[in-house]
Amino acid sequence: METKLNQIKGLGPKTIYKLRQANIWSTYDLILHVPKSYKDFSISNPSELKHESRVTLHALVTSPLMNNPYGKVFSTTFDIKVFDQVIKVIIFNRKYLSKQIKEGQMIIVQGVYHLYRQQLLATEIKLNVDDNQSIQPLYKIKDVSDYVISKAIASIFQDEKVQIFEIIPEEFIKRYKLVSRVEAYRNLHMPKSFSDIEQAVRRLKYEEAFFLELKVVSDQSIFIKRKPKTYDINYIKSFIQTIPYELTFDQKQAVNDIYRDFKKDHAMFRLIQGDVGSGKTVVALIAIMAVVSMHEQAVFMAPTNLLANQQYETYKKLAPKLNIGLLTQKTPNKTQMIKDIKSHQYDLIIGTHALIEDYVEFSNLGLVVIDEQHKFGVDTRNQLIDKSHSKDVLYLTATPIPRTLAMMTFGQQNVSLIKEKPQQKAPIDTQYVTKDKLSVIFNHIHKEIKLNHHVYVVVPAITSDKVDDNIESVYELLTHKLDIDIYMIHGQMKKQQQEDTMQKFKDKPSVLLATTMIEVGIDIPTATTMVIFSAEFFGLSQLHQLRGRVGRSGLASTCYLVSEKSDIDRLELLSRIDDGFELANYDLKIRGPGDFLGKDQSGYLKFHFLDIMQDQKIINIAQKDVLNLLKQKDFKTNYKYKYLNRYIKETIKI
Ligand code: ADP
Ligand code: MG
Repeated sequence: METKLNQIKGLGPKTIYKLRQANIWSTYDLILHVPKSYKDFSISNPSELKHESRVTLHALVTSPLMNNPYGKVFSTTFDIKVFDQVIKVIIFNRKYLSKQIKEGQMIIVQGVYHLYRQQLLATEIKLNVDDNQSIQPLYKIKDVSDYVISKAIASIFQDEKVQIFEIIPEEFIKRYKLVSRVEAYRNLHMPKSFSDIEQAVRRLKYEEAFFLELKVVSDQSIFIKRKPKTYDINYIKSFIQTIPYELTFDQKQAVNDIYRDFKKDHAMFRLIQGDVGSGKTVVALIAIMAVVSMHEQAVFMAPTNLLANQQYETYKKLAPKLNIGLLTQKTPNKTQMIKDIKSHQYDLIIGTHALIEDYVEFSNLGLVVIDEQHKFGVDTRNQLIDKSHSKDVLYLTATPIPRTLAMMTFGQQNVSLIKEKPQQKAPIDTQYVTKDKLSVIFNHIHKEIKLNHHVYVVVPAITSDKVDDNIESVYELLTHKLDIDIYMIHGQMKKQQQEDTMQKFKDKPSVLLATTMIEVGIDIPTATTMVIFSAEFFGLSQLHQLRGRVGRSGLASTCYLVSEKSDIDRLELLSRIDDGFELANYDLKIRGPGDFLGKDQSGYLKFHFLDIMQDQKIINIAQKDVLNLLKQKDFKTNYKYKYLNRYIKETIKI
């Protein structure tokens, strides 16, 4: 399929060396390295020759070239004749031109036309007028000229030194009138018109969407067949009656979605998305009740000990009759707990990633719930899911994943949204503060502590080698300015130490200085002040999440964003917008998808052509196509899909 570069005319060892540095090793690599942009040398017609317009002229040189070395910049002037008029050309910094251009020669010259001076301020001159390539690709490969690359690519196509197979099934090529794969690349490298480029991009966008969805869909469990779940509806109804409040409309919808999944003949793969405090916990519990009613176990994995404990306490209260086990790194009698899990002493096991260890075995695991899914790697999640016989999985997240991303990675039908909050809380007063105004914050903290409230201070790093505002430096600042107890918590402390600190903080009005580890789930009703140092380091969603740690019981609360002026536009969005989803969309635009899906997941979301914000339609179409394709029983063996299957095996490895 590939040819080495040294077999290509015009590529010497030096160029090949440079190409390798750009990670181009074969002809195939070179073809996939598409132009960054294009220069348009389409020849203008007479009507385009207007004052101050940019034109490209095919013209006769009618005077010798005059160099003017004495101005601020070196300039060269000469006359050309075009459309029966004489125009003076000026071009800067091209000393060598006077050796290359002679009176009486045809050239192509590009620049801005000045009508009254009959002058062209030229930026480009092309000497090879026979070259009918009017659109010139710009590759921007370091130390290799675009000309050399264009020539090499032309000879690769001419001498068939590369094989580019069609990998999109013919039915889709026909349906959407796409150009073939080889044609798309040929058009990108040697376009005859801009519509050539458009057609190529349209095809390659579809291709990228197609392979994205192939990966996404095959990661889902829809192809894992199982019998519909035969839960006991009366058991569930009588549990719902014990819940001390009525479910909100969105919560009911989410529960319905889950139960509809249970009735299907394949495993559930569902994301419950809802801002902090939207009531995901009880929805998950109602799902858990279904498997418990059919004598299966359920497991709930949380990202930290703290959250696992909190979850355990909540569920104990909501469902006192349920046998719930807690397994974290610090479970006292672990051996016994592990035995009891296996012998089905517990219906529900709540824990941290301690749950994924091989020695933790379940008796009949029918549902996996993963809280704050993006806090775990794909492997961790899969290790837990693999322990269940049915592979049903429910993801909960308070990070509002932008709609576009959620649909793309979970599929339209697999996302339940809880938008409405059960208790409307007072909005949190969000203020942007520069470093020279910190006294405002210190005064406010003193006031709040007197009211017996709690204060969080968040910094982006632990030590000073990374950023100015870190646990060390801010601790010093706070002890200097505040006559209040200050506790510290960060990820490098032992878990036990973290929990002791949290307890002490809760016990009396005080300040907790922390890294973003407090961003998820921590719930202290009397916390009313959040101060975030170096706020420019965080995504808007993350800041929103941190802000959600205060004002949890309706007490008037404040969030201070400490940063320098340069970031003010972005941060001011936070004082205006209280909708996590809207903020998430800004993050997606500004920071890309990594914030939402975790690094290992967003890796495959790097595209050359596809724009996940703009190309939603293409992605949706590709998703449907892939679903239908994979539903064909003989997909893996059908000769029609030979190259596609090979490509899948070699490239996306599913
Ligand atoms: P999340 O996990 O989505 O952040 P929780 O499930 O912890 O939110 O719910 C937040 C608070 O709202 C909890 O104290 C819970 O008891 C309460 N709650 C949940 N659903 C309702 C409801 N429908 N009506 C009233 N209160 C609710
Ligand atoms: Mg929760």
